[in-house]
Amino acid sequence: MFRYIQRIVSYVSSRIRLKIILPFALLTLMVAVTGTYLSTRLVAGSLEERFTGQLFEAGKAVADGLAQREQLHLSTARVIAFTTGIDESLLSNNQTQLQNLLFPIMVNNNIDRVDMINADGLPLLAIHRTPGTNAIEDYMITTANLADMPIVNKVLQGVVDARGDKYTTLATIDGYEMLLTAGPVKQEDQIIGVVLVGSYIQNLLNSFKQIIFTDVSLYDLEGQLIGTTIPGGGETPAALAMTPTETRLLLALEGETSPQKSISVGENEYDLIYSIFWARGAPLGFYSVATPTTFIVSQGTNARNQMVIIFTTALLMVFGIGYVMSSRITGRLHHLMENAMAVADGDFTRRTQISTNDEIGSLARSLDYMTESLANYTHALQDKIDELITLHESSTAVTIKSNLNLDQVLQAIIASVRGVIRNTDQVIIYLLDEKNQTLIPKASAPQAPHSFPMLAFGEQNGERGLLAATRPQVISVSNLASYSPGAFSANGITDILVTSLIAGQEIIGMLIFTPAGNQPPAELLNKDSERLLRTLANQAAIAIKNAQLFEATQRAYQELQQLDDLKTEFINIAAHELRTPLGAMMGYASFAQKRVPPNLQKTMNFLVVSTLRMRTMVDAMLTIQRLDAGKAFLRLNSVDIQKTIRKTVTDFQPMAELAGHIIVANLPDELPPIEADAEKIDLIFSNLLSNAIKFTPEDGHIQVTLQDYGESILLSVRDNGVGIAKENQERIFERFYQVRVAHLAGHSGMGIGLTTVKHLVELHGGQVWVESEVGQGSTFFITLPKTTADNSRNTPALTSAEFQLIEPETSVIPV
Ligand code: ADP
Repeated sequence: MFRYIQRIVSYVSSRIRLKIILPFALLTLMVAVTGTYLSTRLVAGSLEERFTGQLFEAGKAVADGLAQREQLHLSTARVIAFTTGIDESLLSNNQTQLQNLLFPIMVNNNIDRVDMINADGLPLLAIHRTPGTNAIEDYMITTANLADMPIVNKVLQGVVDARGDKYTTLATIDGYEMLLTAGPVKQEDQIIGVVLVGSYIQNLLNSFKQIIFTDVSLYDLEGQLIGTTIPGGGETPAALAMTPTETRLLLALEGETSPQKSISVGENEYDLIYSIFWARGAPLGFYSVATPTTFIVSQGTNARNQMVIIFTTALLMVFGIGYVMSSRITGRLHHLMENAMAVADGDFTRRTQISTNDEIGSLARSLDYMTESLANYTHALQDKIDELITLHESSTAVTIKSNLNLDQVLQAIIASVRGVIRNTDQVIIYLLDEKNQTLIPKASAPQAPHSFPMLAFGEQNGERGLLAATRPQVISVSNLASYSPGAFSANGITDILVTSLIAGQEIIGMLIFTPAGNQPPAELLNKDSERLLRTLANQAAIAIKNAQLFEATQRAYQELQQLDDLKTEFINIAAHELRTPLGAMMGYASFAQKRVPPNLQKTMNFLVVSTLRMRTMVDAMLTIQRLDAGKAFLRLNSVDIQKTIRKTVTDFQPMAELAGHIIVANLPDELPPIEADAEKIDLIFSNLLSNAIKFTPEDGHIQVTLQDYGESILLSVRDNGVGIAKENQERIFERFYQVRVAHLAGHSGMGIGLTTVKHLVELHGGQVWVESEVGQGSTFFITLPKTTADNSRNTPALTSAEFQLIEPETSVIPV
């Protein structure tokens, strides 16, 4: 239910038309309901009031009418009694005379019936007319005998009460209800007969109805209906009959108030009031007056129907007018909405075409204005996007596709500026040759660069002249300081468009455009293309600068490469050439060392040590050379590592002694031989030991340690020398890298010892690293696997001439 209401509310709230109409419709409906209710009530209420008043009036009129009729009966009885001749006719039973005497009286008083009864109670004459008739001719003599009626007897017996000697009663005679009054006819106070005056009840009631326009009914004291003017056939008496309670209540009230009640007879509704029918001061029966209420109801209904029609019409008009009005509003809103949607879809030509002065008109104008602004903005934006796309394409062409090659960069620049600045004839790029202070045409299209003159980069064209301007400008060629001024003119060019090429703060050249045909060069530029050209010129300048730098770097690199090649070649030759004589020198020096007199011993020692150091260096150089040539390989043997180390230590002992160092070797007693290349192990260890001696100031302490390291052996060489700074610890293994230490300035070496060590250790499948602190000393560690993965197996057999050169010669060195 709630959801249902919610749905209705949301439906209404989503439609302006309903929002406009509904409040008015609801208001009208409320007024309609209230108005109909009130007017119906007013009509019915006033009618009812009037009706009740009328009913009471009618009641009174009926009471008066009945009283008058009784009076008429009494007076008529009295007239008859006192009419001369009546007594005699009564006494003589002269019916004819009686008849003659009575007729005029009856006609005059409009009496329905008169009966004359003599003192003996015998009916002498009865004259009556049938109910509903009125004419004189209708009177007739009747035979009905009313002598036995109680009131007749009462009169005959001379009964007299406070109200006199006449009595009234209701009776049914010949099937007709009648009101009868009996009075005495006297002769000298002697009752000689009775006169009975009667009126038909129905006649009486009909005459009342004619006067008071109200239905009248009469009841006996039991409440049974005696007569009524209400039509309705057989069911009327039953419907109208009073209940005993009602009769008792009415009698108890003695007619002070008149009870009211509603009944229905047949199809009609009636409102009645009851009252007592008094005769001679006593109740003789009851009467009621009744008015049909159907007309009140129908009047109320009529009033309500009228109201319903009026208000329905009003409601329909509210709906109709509201619908038309709101449709006009919502129709225009709908139109606006469609317009807005079309604009949103990109149709900027749409206009609302609403020109009213109301709020919707204002809204429409605002919308049109907005569409126009939007169109302008979009066009501006599109132009910018096109510009950016051009820039992007040209910068991609200049920087990426040209691949840092200066010629390609220049060609790309020419292609892209020709795309931006249309209607050009020649596009020329001049680059500055700083050394000669000249602007040289490096690239151009469509003519080749050599068709254009070189220009001087002086006062006129240089930083303070033409190229100082950052914006493109149009100048006459005569303003250029040219080495051959006629060159431009020879091509028929008089005016040109110039843009300087500036990378950072530096002028690197300029771009020159000449217009096609006879067009003035200023026509080449508009605001947008000028901005684009400036941006392009900046990009081009940077791209040219980068390409120039790249070329310079490449040149420098090539020079360095050549130098490096020369050095390597020199080392190779030197090493090859030195190795053999060195071997001989070492042999002889060792031999002589043992035989010189003691005063020459020190000199001899120095000679041996120097030769050893030289040989280590030459071996390192040769190793490097072989590594470079891809010819290095291992010759694996079972190597007694302790023995190898002990021998090398012994070799370097004289060198250590010369520097005042002590070498301590911690070698384990038991260490099985390892699979390695003994000569290379010697070279590795020699380099490490040589460095330790070299980079330790005098009287140092060098410790060599060999340990079993599971699958490998771990060899360390510790010194308490100068140490190596953290940032150099990686780099010392690079080729030719040397750390310059001030107080060790002048030490020999080429910076290839550790490179050799690293390569050889790695060739064995081991590792090398250093731990060191400046001023504290260094420890170099190497691990060598006990079983080396055989790298040499796949390498050529030992036939290489080079390798013969490192045949062991250490045996000649005396230990
Ligand atoms: P060289 O000894 O010929 O200079 P190396 O490759 O053997 O070349 O060594 C490279 C550099 O490493 C040396 O110049 C030196 O600065 C540093 N270095 C090598 N060994 C030590 C060490 N034990 N103590 C301090 N510095 C060392």
